[in-house]
Amino acid sequence: MDTIDSVTRLIASYKKLPGIGNKTAERLAYATLGFSKEDLEAFSASLKNVEDKVHLCPKCGMFIDTPTCPICDDTTRDNTTLLVVTDAKNVISFEKTGKYTGLYFVLGGSLSPVKGIGPNEIRLPELKKIISEGVVKEVILACSSTLDGELTAGYINKMLNGMPIKITRLAYGLPVGADIEYVDEVTIERSLKARVDMKGE
Ligand SMILES: [Zn+2]
Repeated sequence: MDTIDSVTRLIASYKKLPGIGNKTAERLAYATLGFSKEDLEAFSASLKNVEDKVHLCPKCGMFIDTPTCPICDDTTRDNTTLLVVTDAKNVISFEKTGKYTGLYFVLGGSLSPVKGIGPNEIRLPELKKIISEGVVKEVILACSSTLDGELTAGYINKMLNGMPIKITRLAYGLPVGADIEYVDEVTIERSLKARVDMKGE
């Protein structure tokens, strides 16, 4: 007998997750079949909740599930400093240090000629718009030190050239090729503190 349709669909859904191949998707699907009624209800309700409530903050690009953004709309934060990161999960790394009090801007990816990702595929036009509003005085580039990350940082530096702002980048304390999400809090904090001016690079 072939796998029943309901299970096949569940396997296909699990396979959409990063790092999940056929075998693992099958294992997860059959484990789900073993859930109690209550667990199944909670599982499907949390997925439905994500569908109904989670959206991107139009300003920072973070996932939020409230009408206002807990970071952008926090008036105790310094709205003149904007930290630019590649992914929403990078924001969590900086927030964990508890030392950064400015605002964030999530690009939603890096420029990549190989993958065909150009400036309009990530939130670069939105970044330019926010900077041109004139409130931000310093942009800190915290793109990953991968090839695509470097390319993105270089592009932003050029794009914002001539605007009356300071452009800095994290100090070279981050290991080459490392994604920020794998770097410990102390390194992030140190790298943020010793950030370097990008003018003249
Ligand atoms: Zn926000």
